[in-house]
Amino acid sequence: MLRKRRRKRRRSYAWALRLRDDDPQVQALDQEAWLGLCYARLFAEDARKRRKDALSEDGAVEALTAGDVAEGEWELSPVQVNTRIKRARTVLFGERGERAIFNELKRIEARRGQPPRRCAAPGCSKELPLHATARRRYCRGSRCRVAALRARRRSASPQFEPHAAT
Ligand SMILES: [Zn+2]
Repeated sequence: MLRKRRRKRRRSYAWALRLRDDDPQVQALDQEAWLGLCYARLFAEDARKRRKDALSEDGAVEALTAGDVAEGEWELSPVQVNTRIKRARTVLFGERGERAIFNELKRIEARRGQPPRRCAAPGCSKELPLHATARRRYCRGSRCRVAALRARRRSASPQFEPHAAT
């Protein structure tokens, strides 16, 4: 029987498998987003398994659906499954696309086991939150926000940079 495969639903959940439970980004998730991450891992594992099965003679098994995940869980609807996955993805990566997510995952992996970064403002050595993005260099203290603003403006107008000691 010839059945046309629907390509539309081929969203990747591979990001969920690359995150570890002890990653600070994961630990900072609220309950809804945490469950979403767990569901996303189910889909990612399913996709991985079906890719493997497709290579064998047995052929592809039906893809896991949000309905399958919701089944058996009291008062959980397929819509909620998808909403929680979307929440996990948004909390972890914002509204960014696959490429940006891939890069952020690389940063998360590179930061594992490293000491926490500290605020770059002079006179402040507060630790930055572990889930801070790589671009963030200053803590949220009011003086440090000013320092961050000044740094941004300096880099935006290099002609005001003091002469480098050459
Ligand atoms: Zn600071």
